[in-house]
Amino acid sequence: MEDELHRLQTEALAALESGQDPDELKVRYLGRKGRLTAILRGVKDLPVAKRPGIGQLANRLKAELEAALARAASDARGGEAAFGLDIGLPGRRGPLGRLHPITQTETDICDIFIRMGFSVVETREVELDYYCFEALNMPPDHPARDMQDTFYITEDVVLRTHTSPAQVRTMESTPPPVKIVCPGKAFRRDSDVTHTPMFHQVEGLLVDEGVSFGDLKGVLAEFVRQLFGPRTPLRFRPSFFPFTEPSAEVDIGCVVCRGKGCRVCKQTGWLEILGSGMVDPNVYGFVDYDPDVISGFAFGMGVERIAMLRYGIDDIRLFFQNDLRFLRQF
Ligand SMILES: [Zn+2]
Repeated sequence: MEDELHRLQTEALAALESGQDPDELKVRYLGRKGRLTAILRGVKDLPVAKRPGIGQLANRLKAELEAALARAASDARGGEAAFGLDIGLPGRRGPLGRLHPITQTETDICDIFIRMGFSVVETREVELDYYCFEALNMPPDHPARDMQDTFYITEDVVLRTHTSPAQVRTMESTPPPVKIVCPGKAFRRDSDVTHTPMFHQVEGLLVDEGVSFGDLKGVLAEFVRQLFGPRTPLRFRPSFFPFTEPSAEVDIGCVVCRGKGCRVCKQTGWLEILGSGMVDPNVYGFVDYDPDVISGFAFGMGVERIAMLRYGIDDIRLFFQNDLRFLRQF
């Protein structure tokens, strides 16, 4: 019996060495009908005196054979074992990122206009003076060109101070009708609790035959209600911009005090959220549109300002300090 056990082991190891499939050998020797299994099963029929010796030997050989087979099977799976890699383990979940609150707000703003049929246009951040000012009806002596506000690259090249150049570039290359929103970064030399040198705007332009101030009011009222809720009060307040005539600022009822008057709304009950107006006919002259045939309106808003109102944030600089404790709240 002892000899038979040793022979079995030598045979099995030789078979393994010669490259036979370890899984097949496992069945042949250790399986339910395996040869070693049969011997182990027979131990109980041996004379009592012989049982412990043979039993121990058979169990030891079984353990050795199992280990050799497991090693061979693992080697056959390639380098996994060598690198401590177990492909059977469940994967580790990586940390999941999220969109920055400014990106979220910008996307939400654009989505509302996309649902109203506007398309999204993005243009360059480094812009020619011509597109940033001149073609927007801002003559060379206009205050917005002041060195205090504008980052100049050269005399003719600036970091755009607003996203409005996208309007001119689009009209220049597209015949009317035009119905676009232009999200993006803008730059001004300005820094305090409500201004950062880099900020985001969403610009809009709708030009077609017969567009009226009523269309402007309708589109912007719908926008405000979708972004701030259907019961949000709003008003159009006369204003001035070089590239629109007439111009209007849009105010919403203060989201903090609901119109009663507080520090955020400076006791007025109203918060300014965007500027708008009918495109000044002079602008059409720069893009070869006929102001006698077409008309349109434009609007622009600061994304940071809208995000601050939405989330109740009182310092714009928090958006750009990249403090994860702040960013994880959105
Ligand atoms: Zn208020």
